Amino acid sequence: MASGELATKTLHELRALLEAGTISPAEILDDVLARIEVQNPSLHAYAAVDPDALRRHAREQKPGASRGRLGGIPVTIKDNICITGEETACGSRILKGFRSPYDATVIDRLRREGAMLIPRANMDEFAFGSSTETSAFGPTRNPWNPACVPGGSSGGAAAAVAAHLAVAALGSDTGGSIRQPASFCGVVGLKPTYGRVSRYGLVAFASSLDQIGPLTKDVEDAALLLSVIAGHDTHDSTSAPTEVPDYCRELKAGVKGLRLGIPSVPGQKGLSEPMKRAVHAAIKDLEKLGCKTVEVTIPHLDKVVETYYIIATAEASSNLSRYEGVQYGFRASSNGGGLLEMYLRTRHEGFGAEAKRRILLGTYVLSHGYYDAYYLKGMKVRTLIKQGFDDAFTQCDVIAMPTSPTPAFRIGEKLDDPLQMYLSDIYTISANLAGVPAVSLPCGFTSEGLPIGLQLLAAPFQESRLLQTAYAYEQATEWHRRQPPTGVAQSSK
Ligand code: GLN
Repeated sequence: MASGELATKTLHELRALLEAGTISPAEILDDVLARIEVQNPSLHAYAAVDPDALRRHAREQKPGASRGRLGGIPVTIKDNICITGEETACGSRILKGFRSPYDATVIDRLRREGAMLIPRANMDEFAFGSSTETSAFGPTRNPWNPACVPGGSSGGAAAAVAAHLAVAALGSDTGGSIRQPASFCGVVGLKPTYGRVSRYGLVAFASSLDQIGPLTKDVEDAALLLSVIAGHDTHDSTSAPTEVPDYCRELKAGVKGLRLGIPSVPGQKGLSEPMKRAVHAAIKDLEKLGCKTVEVTIPHLDKVVETYYIIATAEASSNLSRYEGVQYGFRASSNGGGLLEMYLRTRHEGFGAEAKRRILLGTYVLSHGYYDAYYLKGMKVRTLIKQGFDDAFTQCDVIAMPTSPTPAFRIGEKLDDPLQMYLSDIYTISANLAGVPAVSLPCGFTSEGLPIGLQLLAAPFQESRLLQTAYAYEQATEWHRRQPPTGVAQSSK
């Protein structure tokens, strides 16, 4: 096999080659690390990566350790998922130098299946953002056009998978952070049902919205990774005891007779023409495959951005109160001013501008006198949105809509305009507020060659149905096979 080619393959292709004995885990790792060494300095998909340490670690592995469903296959981990002994900085100065004393449950599950972990994919600071520009380690670039952002907050993970600096990745999604970068980078990104995957060891942003999920080169890989990481965990009281189906076995059931819900979505004015056209064409393709489209109305979808930015900032402000320079990472000097001065300086110097904005907003909406007007009201609207989805899923099986109102925007374009940045989450946020699973997959390209994502949503714990629909569409189209210009060989699939 030509050098560099293994890195372009999917998890399931590599698994088949490993099982046939035609390649070794060391060859895959070499190919991926060679690409990292060449491309990461310009793409900056990794906040930090140490190829020599990874090679050493691979050599030290006991024989047989590479067996399992992911035996020896490199999987990249977002910088907010804890790995024993590794730095977990969440793209923030305030966590610089913090090394996790334990493995997140998802890491434990990847290890049990023999995956080769590659820390640490770059991200927006504490996952606050839609562009990966707020990382304290500098921005990540989009492999399809380095002048553009890769989306966020899992922008490093999405860029790494798109440019083959990883075979697959785990990211986190609180309001779209897996799906929107997947859409911007032309890969598949899945946010599972709230409670489907354990959050133990995921650094908390908004605990009632956060979920870990896969970013992959195709739908089959998403099914495989989800099968590995899903399931109940006694370390996370919000993880569900619901049984985990065999997502890979159920993948190819097809979509004949499936009721595809088309909601009238908000912000149609902000939806750019190429996105509108591509999503419309994708719905037509799904109809040709046997789906029956039905119009669905989900009330209050026009309120999702406000609702999300009240609830998410409220939870973030309380989750981030633990960073005071004593327990984790960075500590500023008190300059002789005592403990309070040290706390204040640590938070002043440790947090970036967006993190401070969220802490202030969240503290405000929770404060006495404003709680009822903002937080409580936000929670009530959230309940109505959730009920709206429950009703919609009595009329349809899967909902289709855009992932993002625009394709990847230029670096710097929205950084100084938080409201514009927040509006880029308009289509992804509702799945988190309602707790339902949602996936983004490639469904077209703009005339400038930037990827476009189609978003599909299903009722809670209906990931199988979601993946079946995505798989049927993917099999009938070629979008996922296109490679970014910085990538090299085409996947053989
Ligand atoms: N872009 C959204 C935000 O900034 C979502 C982020 C996420 O899902 N972590 O809050």
